[in-house]
Amino acid sequence: MEYEAVIGLEVHVQVDTKSKMFTRTPRGYGEPPNTLTDPVVMGLPGALPVMNFEAIEKSIKVGLLLGCEIAKVCKWDRKNYFYPDMPKNYQISQFDQPICLGGEVEIEMEGENRSVMGSHRKVQLTRIHLEEDVGKLTHFENDSLVDYNRAGSALLEIVSEPDLFSPDEVFAYLTSLRNSLVYAGISDCDMEKGEMRCDANVSVRPQGESELGTKVELKNLNTISGVRNGVEYEIKRQSSTLREGGTISQETRRWNPEQKYTTAMRSKEMAHDYRYFPDPDLMPVEIDDDWVERIKLEIPEMPFDKQRRFMENHGLPYSSTSALCPDRKLCDFFEETVSKCSQAKKAANWIVNDLLRELSAAGDENGPMPLDQSKMTPVHCAELVTLVEDGSISSNIAKEIFPEIFASGKMPAALVEEKGLKQTSDTTELESICSQVMSDHPKAVEEFKGGKENAINALKGQVMKATRGQANPKIVDDLLRKLLSS
Ligand code: ADP
Ligand code: MG
Repeated sequence: MEYEAVIGLEVHVQVDTKSKMFTRTPRGYGEPPNTLTDPVVMGLPGALPVMNFEAIEKSIKVGLLLGCEIAKVCKWDRKNYFYPDMPKNYQISQFDQPICLGGEVEIEMEGENRSVMGSHRKVQLTRIHLEEDVGKLTHFENDSLVDYNRAGSALLEIVSEPDLFSPDEVFAYLTSLRNSLVYAGISDCDMEKGEMRCDANVSVRPQGESELGTKVELKNLNTISGVRNGVEYEIKRQSSTLREGGTISQETRRWNPEQKYTTAMRSKEMAHDYRYFPDPDLMPVEIDDDWVERIKLEIPEMPFDKQRRFMENHGLPYSSTSALCPDRKLCDFFEETVSKCSQAKKAANWIVNDLLRELSAAGDENGPMPLDQSKMTPVHCAELVTLVEDGSISSNIAKEIFPEIFASGKMPAALVEEKGLKQTSDTTELESICSQVMSDHPKAVEEFKGGKENAINALKGQVMKATRGQANPKIVDDLLRKLLSS
């Protein structure tokens, strides 16, 4: 019997806001434990929550990015449970009237190779709701510590339909979702900092069957690759259990990234276990059309739309766009460069190859140097492209000086001047060098005249050597051909 997988994801994303969801205490990461707390976060008697306007605006923005229906009215509910990471013993969340309904995430499945665009599809969303984050527990052998710094931060839960069918689709979904949210400034989605977290619901069913199988919820998936690996393992585990005549129990399982297997944590609780009821301390939120229309104006172009536009309007190859488009700042850098030199393909090549290489060489263990710290600006890049294009320097010289421009921030033209690297297009001087090279290499001359086209390359190489790479190759070619045919 062959089994097919069905997966639905619940993704939590911390909204990048100055203060927490229901209080003015700042949101933060890496501060000393339990310093970002107050009576509201700690649920002390008498403390009252006040909604964070920015968090609601950003949630509406996410809904618009992902094509959701924005609720006319959404409300707050208490989700009741006891766990030490939550001082109030209830979490303020949204139960039956979430802020966004429906929506979709466009995904790309890799093509035959990295130089061609893969296939695209839209994965359906169920809903998005806003809630408050909980604290963080750290477990040791005999005791556990709790840090409430994260508790009360605005947290979005993005719930997909069971509309993903392989570990690779899951990977593509998370990558695309993260790129879109980062683009729109919703969150940095850094999984290491817990800014994006994912629970995966996995089931299998006999191939061709339309009914869904029993689902297992996977926890502790800490990286996008971790999610892919955990889901892959779980699909295999469930398929082989069924093949051996066993049954799947609905439960929550924990992914162990080191040992690469899942273990049962607890049987799954049901919604009614939480005794949801409307939070009496908070008013429902009315969202009118004007508000939505105004936020619509702030929606940036989505990464895949940008990628298609770069291919169609700028004529970029797919491979360049897939290096540029996950990073909005890099795309802006590219477009600004093009506006100054109108050489889209050349500009993209410098950015994708040379600039990215220098940024990663200048980086540290936290990753490449951020683009906004680089001394190389679109003005530098455009000037360099123009110098090559108008024949002032050869592309080899440009490659050579790129790292120095990057490191020093010197303008390319000034650096070329300073180092005396300007390409020699002075035909009188070049002609005498060509003649000299021809008389020094009579054999190559003989061969060329005898019909061996390639022999001219040896002569060109000698001219370039004699001019330390500064001769304009096009002019050298013309001159040699003229001299050889006379
Ligand atoms: P619960 O009530 O257990 O929270 P939901 O119906 O709210 O379950 O679904 C939670 C997530 O699980 C959603 O992302 C949904 O797409 C996914 N899901 C639901 N049923 C299945 C299934 N049989 N197989 C895989 N995923 C599922
Ligand atoms: Mg649910």
